[in-house]
Amino acid sequence: MNRVYNFSAGPSMMPTWVLEKAQQEMLNHKGSGQSVMEMSHRSKEFVSIINECENRLRSLMNIPKNYKIMFIQGGASLQFSMIPYNLLGAHKKVALINTGAWSKKAYEEICKVCECKIIANSADTTHNYIPKVDTIDKDIDYLYICENNTIYGTKYQQLPVCDAPIVADFSSCICSEPVDVSKYGLIFAGAQKNLGGAGVTIVIVREDLIQKVDKNLPSMMSYKNYIDNDSLYNTPPTYAIYMCNLMLTWIEEEIGGLQAMKEYNEKKANLLYDYLDNSILFKGTVVKEDRSLMNVPFITGNDELDKQFIALAAQSGIINIKGHRSVGGMRASIYNAMSYEGVEALVLLMQQFEKENTNAPH
Ligand code: PMP
Repeated sequence: MNRVYNFSAGPSMMPTWVLEKAQQEMLNHKGSGQSVMEMSHRSKEFVSIINECENRLRSLMNIPKNYKIMFIQGGASLQFSMIPYNLLGAHKKVALINTGAWSKKAYEEICKVCECKIIANSADTTHNYIPKVDTIDKDIDYLYICENNTIYGTKYQQLPVCDAPIVADFSSCICSEPVDVSKYGLIFAGAQKNLGGAGVTIVIVREDLIQKVDKNLPSMMSYKNYIDNDSLYNTPPTYAIYMCNLMLTWIEEEIGGLQAMKEYNEKKANLLYDYLDNSILFKGTVVKEDRSLMNVPFITGNDELDKQFIALAAQSGIINIKGHRSVGGMRASIYNAMSYEGVEALVLLMQQFEKENTNAPH
């Protein structure tokens, strides 16, 4: 069977190397005579998988020793609530930059717990840029940002200057390039875009930020509880953690680490952006300096043509390029696992469609 090029925003493509490895190990993981799905989460086999996953992530992302790593269920969305419950300090106040739907959702959840002030907003132009911040109040417990905006295709190239810890949603850009973790108080990401299947969310937190947590916080909401129990307080999403470890192994061994991952991601994104910058028919929607390497929204400016192109793409084995329902047009999500050949196939189809629908000289 031919595999499609899947440009979905998440869950997303995985490398054949990873899927084949999982297939090989499906019935008998490393001589244990069982599938990872069948293992007790307390077995030595699974404990070695979760430890390997954590160590690999720490080494790949160069996570400093004073940061803890947790594997949590509930999706990235649960973190919108867990973070304020665990990170609020003396001020009981959060500042947030609204760069689109995901930071808006985080805002709504934070407001249920404490005061949250939107200090910059890009809603005026359908979130097609990262808004600048002048000054940030001193009396906040943390600043919340969405590092890469999956729906609108914007990405922070430079962090705001802020004395308080920065908390960032990395769901759609984790492990796509090197990052200086020490600049953040907390980083979190659902695994289902860049690091495997749905079911596990990775949370990386600076240890000193969670020392004064309310003792009455429900156990399943408490970072301290996850840390004290090495993410094994209850049954973790074992298979998702296993797949995450395979994805990290692929990045490390097949790609060559995060710098090499970044270069590959840039090569793919440049191919698409260069074409968009020169196309007569298709246009990228994001200002150049804030463009994401992962999510590339584009339009023709004509809803009917957009529809035709999406249908033609699907017939050609290029699926899930319809833009988010709140934006329209198209969006190509080109996460770690999308190959250069996949982006090439998309650009070739766009060129062909452009030729047929304009008087373009290409
Ligand atoms: N944050 C971002 C940036 C996302 O793209 C998404 C999902 N697309 C979420 C949060 C929500 O993730 P989940 O469905 O895992 O709760």
